[in-house]
Amino acid sequence: MRKKILAANWKMNLTHSEAESYLQSFLTEIGDVNDVEVVIIPPFTAIPALASASEKIQALRIGAQNMHWEKSGAFTGEISATMLRALYVKYVVLGHSERRTLFGETDEIVNRKVRAALDAGLRPIFCVGETLRERDNNQVEQVLERQVRSGLEGVSQKDFNEIVMAYEPCWAIGTGRTATPAQAEQAHAFIRSVLSELADGATADRVRIQYGGSVKPDNAEELMRQKNIDGALVGGASLDPRNFAQIIRCAEAALAP
Ligand code: PEP
Repeated sequence: MRKKILAANWKMNLTHSEAESYLQSFLTEIGDVNDVEVVIIPPFTAIPALASASEKIQALRIGAQNMHWEKSGAFTGEISATMLRALYVKYVVLGHSERRTLFGETDEIVNRKVRAALDAGLRPIFCVGETLRERDNNQVEQVLERQVRSGLEGVSQKDFNEIVMAYEPCWAIGTGRTATPAQAEQAHAFIRSVLSELADGATADRVRIQYGGSVKPDNAEELMRQKNIDGALVGGASLDPRNFAQIIRCAEAALAP
């Protein structure tokens, strides 16, 4: 069975000291977490504040929101996978739609980053998703297939075990509009079918696929109950530690028959 993975993408929010306060409240809210994996993905500047705590709490992992594909060099303003690893970072979000649309990241750039992350021992949370126009033009599968195939080009079958996929329809990110559980499940099943063509059925079955796009405490459980939905990548709602803790509880509740 795939262990569900719930990740908080804080985006460009919270300072180092705000992250410390968040963690205090979150830990009080959350208590014991055994059945799901939890990842907090702060801005780079808050990673050290969380990294020390993540060593003490079994289920908690730290992620980063971006990285450069080179190991080091003249890339002003960039951060490498090696630097992230040195701060106990385990996951890195790659291919997020905000990076694609606001910062011009192409499928090729995303692929370079995915391969560099894997080479350095980081686990990519590899995001794919269609725009509203692409959905309206019935191009969902075409777009997802292109993004998955290009992003994973050159990735070995063994490394598929290190990857978490995130299906994030662009029209649902930060808009308050969520994909229906049926829409999300259909996209997740399709992504898994593409993975099974790239690797094999058993490998594809082990890959966790998160849903992202306006996940909140009141829609999380139903989404998490879908067969191919293995967790959530949560943006806005994760900025409130109580909301994020509640979403984690929803994922745990979804494990019950
Ligand atoms: C995200 O940024 O990955 C995201 C899903 O944001 P939100 O939950 O705010 O839609």
